[in-house]
Amino acid sequence: MAPASLVVMSSLEPSDPREDLLSDLDPEQRAAVLAVHGPVVILAGAGSGKTRVISRRTAYAIATGVVAPDQALVVTFTDKAAGEMGERLRVLGLPGVTARTFHAHALSQIRHFWASRHDGADMPALLDSKLSMVGPLARHLPGNYRFRPAKDIADEIEWAKVRRVAPRDYEREAAAAHREPPIPGDLLAKVYDQYERLKVKAHRMDFEDLLLETVRLLEDDPDAAETVRARKSWISVDEYQDTNPLQERLLELWMGDRRDLCVVGDEDQAIYTFTGASSGYLRSFATRWEGALELSLMNNYRSSPQVLALANRLISADGRTKQLVATRPDGPDPVIAKHTTDVVELAALCAWITLRLREGTKPAEVAVLVRINAQLPPIEEALTRAGIAYQVRGLRFYARPEVRTAVITLRKLATSDAPDASLLGPALAGRVRALWREALGFDETAEEDEAGSGQEARERRASLETLLAIVESLAAGDGTLTATALLAALDARAAHEREGAADGVNLLTLHRAKGLEWDAVALPSLEEGNLPIRQAASAAGDDEAIAEERRLLYVGMTRAREHLLLSWALQRDVRGRMARREASRFLDDLRPPPSNRVTVLPGSPMHPTADRAPRPGATGDPLFETLRAWRTEQARLEAVPPYVIAHDNTLTLIAQSRPRTRPALRRIPGIGPDKLERYGDEILAIVERSLIG
Ligand code: ATP
Ligand code: MG
Repeated sequence: MAPASLVVMSSLEPSDPREDLLSDLDPEQRAAVLAVHGPVVILAGAGSGKTRVISRRTAYAIATGVVAPDQALVVTFTDKAAGEMGERLRVLGLPGVTARTFHAHALSQIRHFWASRHDGADMPALLDSKLSMVGPLARHLPGNYRFRPAKDIADEIEWAKVRRVAPRDYEREAAAAHREPPIPGDLLAKVYDQYERLKVKAHRMDFEDLLLETVRLLEDDPDAAETVRARKSWISVDEYQDTNPLQERLLELWMGDRRDLCVVGDEDQAIYTFTGASSGYLRSFATRWEGALELSLMNNYRSSPQVLALANRLISADGRTKQLVATRPDGPDPVIAKHTTDVVELAALCAWITLRLREGTKPAEVAVLVRINAQLPPIEEALTRAGIAYQVRGLRFYARPEVRTAVITLRKLATSDAPDASLLGPALAGRVRALWREALGFDETAEEDEAGSGQEARERRASLETLLAIVESLAAGDGTLTATALLAALDARAAHEREGAADGVNLLTLHRAKGLEWDAVALPSLEEGNLPIRQAASAAGDDEAIAEERRLLYVGMTRAREHLLLSWALQRDVRGRMARREASRFLDDLRPPPSNRVTVLPGSPMHPTADRAPRPGATGDPLFETLRAWRTEQARLEAVPPYVIAHDNTLTLIAQSRPRTRPALRRIPGIGPDKLERYGDEILAIVERSLIG
């Protein structure tokens, strides 16, 4: 036994910093951190500590003298992630380490060498967005194409540039890759070409040029390559599954013939294939880098076993065998909720968030993740109405250009002090609609294709539809509402939104959510057409597009530590009309095996009662419950008691006989011609759905 004095002395000794860096890691993570000499590839699932290992490994390599702090580079996927990685390293006592995106690091190099390689000329200024140049070009397109949003065209140009596809090769390459360009391929190639010329003339460079120019510099100039390599000799890359060809080439050039490269990624989280990225680089790493150490991390430290069970089910339905292994204690069961309408879904979402906040979850620990930004405005509006502060990664609703323009046009109506009687309450809403149609070309009844089917068009449309719905609800609630009062009400909402920005509930797209985590995560609108997105579902035979949509949902679900809500609605307001919706095909894959515990709301095809087959038409029968929920919502919309819509007996008879045609429905007592006219389609849709589900 050691003498007592020695024991005391050793406990007073400062602990070995190297041991501190390893002490809270599991054996696999520890092995990865200890592997400080590359090449190393870590293939591991969500929440298994890949990002943690990257920062620890860097710290450990520095602490053991393997690399000097200024020689280490950590490449992250976004600037935000770079900031967080920098912070993790600072906490570990390493302020000097460079953590940057591919773009940021390329920019520092091209800036450094530009003047000396271009006869002292200034470097072209960076073009923050292609829109300022693509916009005017797009407006000169023939026919209706000139109304197509410039952003969608700019995105397509980006796809081509990232893959080093020149304008003259665009059509061929796009066809080979089954792209669906926002305008015909020949026109897109033309705009792309014009854009490139215009940009050179204006002495500008865009983000892809930044990577391209750096690649060219390092390929053609051995001295520059030598200098660059001498500065950073030890490189790690996070989120490597989403690397695009240009970035991969840049990485090769940064490495030269050195071998201290560590990449980490999860091919089940590859969600940027559509921009030209490929998880193939991750999968082939060990064969491309001879002698590479291939490691995996086994445990998940982020999510409850309940969340992981659901995520595992989703990914195994795609034939993948990987399973995330839980280490955290049990949490609440995830909720899968089916709603009658989008309005009901939003109300339920707000109620779910309110409950989390009451339980003590901080607003910043709650996230609502959406497939496309166009889903955000109605959610933002519902949160505002529910008094829940939020922050949007991206633009807030009232700060969006189209919303600001639309509000400004309303000032025209508010110039007169003596209000015109034809501009009060509901009449005012009618005038607003007419005004926006005239001034903004906004027609909420138009088919989508007329307005353009790209993402920007959908977002603009969703914003204006939401704003119109707000105007209509304000006008309906106050028959004497003046234009001035309307403007004041909208200003108050904009102010409320600004105040909530600092630490509210997070609203963001699934794409932006990668790498992040929250206590509570909600994934609304899980319907066919939204997730998988319509374009993915319609691309004939394109299983890869569907697989990427599945991975997006997987990324979303694996962001949750404890609470997870998945929801969808049977009907959704699409351009002023109620459209029938179908549950996302991915929800079918989440159906629990009999022993599993997942809370599924009544009425869902996944509800346990669906398996036990309760008496048709009785409480507990999913169809009867769905009909009742529909009736409640309809009654609320029409501001009448539920029995005015339909008696319980009528709903029971419908649930028992399950009519599939209008004449069959008409035969049910309680369904007269008027009811058939008003509700026939909706009831038949509900019955149809129950038969499929
Ligand atoms: P993603 O695939 O989503 O990017 P990841 O593999 O990068 O996930 P991290 O973000 O590094 O995972 O870790 C997930 C969470 O688990 C973080 O909160 C992290 O601090 C925690 N964590 C990781 N390893 C451990 C560990 N050994 N003990 C306790 N917590 C851990
Ligand atoms: Mg990570």
